[in-house]
Amino acid sequence: MMEVSLGQKQKHHEFTLLSFSLLPSSSSPSCSSAVACFSTECGATKLQFHQKSESAEVVHVDISTAQLFKLGPVKSVCISESSEGNRMVKSYSRGITLRFRTEDESKAFHCAFEQWKSKAVDASAGACLENGKVVTSKSKFDSKVEAASAKMYFHYYGQLLHQQNMLQDYVRTGTYYAAVIENRTDFIGRVVVDVGAGSGILSLFAAQAGAKHVYAVEASEMAEYAQKLIAGNPSLAQRITVIKGKVEEVELPEKADILISEPMGTLLVNERMLESYVIARDRFLVPKGKMFPTIGRIHMAPFSDEYLYVEVANKALFWQQQNYFGVDLTSLYGSAFQGYFSQPVVDAFDPRLLVSPAISHTIDFTSVKEEELYEIDIPLSFIASGGTRVHGLACWFDVLFNGSTVQRWLTTAPGSPTTHWYQLRCILSQPIYVMAGQEITGRFHMVAHNAQSYTIYLTMSAKMYGAGADQGGILQTSSCKFDLKEPYYRMSQPQAYTWSQDQQPHQLGHAQVGFPSRCCRTFQPRLLEPTKEKREGYVESYEGNYLLGDLGRKE
Ligand code: SAH
Repeated sequence: MMEVSLGQKQKHHEFTLLSFSLLPSSSSPSCSSAVACFSTECGATKLQFHQKSESAEVVHVDISTAQLFKLGPVKSVCISESSEGNRMVKSYSRGITLRFRTEDESKAFHCAFEQWKSKAVDASAGACLENGKVVTSKSKFDSKVEAASAKMYFHYYGQLLHQQNMLQDYVRTGTYYAAVIENRTDFIGRVVVDVGAGSGILSLFAAQAGAKHVYAVEASEMAEYAQKLIAGNPSLAQRITVIKGKVEEVELPEKADILISEPMGTLLVNERMLESYVIARDRFLVPKGKMFPTIGRIHMAPFSDEYLYVEVANKALFWQQQNYFGVDLTSLYGSAFQGYFSQPVVDAFDPRLLVSPAISHTIDFTSVKEEELYEIDIPLSFIASGGTRVHGLACWFDVLFNGSTVQRWLTTAPGSPTTHWYQLRCILSQPIYVMAGQEITGRFHMVAHNAQSYTIYLTMSAKMYGAGADQGGILQTSSCKFDLKEPYYRMSQPQAYTWSQDQQPHQLGHAQVGFPSRCCRTFQPRLLEPTKEKREGYVESYEGNYLLGDLGRKE
């Protein structure tokens, strides 16, 4: 390996190979060693291969489009476009088999390849290509979000059934309808942008309220269905334009007087779509333009729910079996326990489970900076209204439509009509004891990650007085970490299954698959049952799980 720097404009990096050969190769590769050389000349990045002994053939590779695959410890293949021949003639891909002398040399080459490739890609970004197309650098969305997450996300929203789930949440859709129609003065004759239009429903509401023109921006395949739905309402269709693309990337012909959007995920912030809403504000909204919704609030209060705690703890009991088909499972018990307690619980709970009045954290969509949503840190302070065991923090949210005529709140609070967002509870694996009037302090710290969600760090503390405690009291502190993207959907309790012969137990394990983010937005009318019935359901479920634990101990 050799690196030679010849000033700023020329640089090269050489690797010795055992051999290289073009695919398909009938002849065995020559034994004489070969050289791979990365270089930059006047801004152009090159990769070339040539035999050491012969000066004859040099193989040039366009590194910006080439891909390198590892076939073995010392064998790789580089796939590139053929650069030979006339430019007018269609080029074909070409494979070059590379053999390295040692595994370390192979690793070093792979590493250098990635570095030089990213240099080459960066250099071509923003540059004008031959066909006149401009390659822009990664959009704000693409640079924050892992490609696999975005793919799953937009695939999810591209399906009508998931849009229907949201449309069938009548609390949600009805509140949006009322907020728009009752504030028609904010819409009449105005230009509206619908941020993440989905089926196009909010664009149709805005048009009904008299908007001059609505731009319905939707990134998923749903844009095509939205177009169809809008065309099916001809009296409104002429004032709506559907634009397929991300709000971070599309261009609009004019500025908007008002933005309308439904960017709320579980706990308001899941999906990280609020950031897109804010980016749309900065890109498209006139100064002092309106936003529907205008602000959002996250509410938090400690809760006590023994049933829930035992239910979750019992799930891990499976791993306490010492003889599961002759296998001792106990070494994984701790990890399984941790795993279950890292899942926030999504369901509708009785507000009587709350141990103190809630506190709230407000996000003003009209002024918040996008980066401020990357990390949300909320100090906690509550006064317990009674003596009990606190099992964690319960959270929900609401949003305000601050219309010129009417202010409307859409709330997902416990005790209010249930929405497809339900509520969220973060359970402490070590509950804390409190007495009436005692202060509960802590921190709710959310850090965004590139899978369109957040890691939540929760700490709750209370001072314990009484026998055994010194004057200052004993501080009990409990901390847990949660992934908002992997919640436990507890809305429907497992039924008593009878397994048929061809059905394996594992097939019944997890009902929730697919993009997990707004699956929790899955609206199940069956779940809008009175709270009392739900609580009885918990008892059944607890007993069911207890049996599993019992089985574990017997084994
Ligand atoms: N407005 C519709 C859909 C809300 S769901 C309704 O109220 O029923 C959110 C929608 O926003 C999804 O369809 C999703 O695909 C879309 N979306 C999310 N992020 C986006 C982005 N960055 N650009 C464009 N669309 C986006």
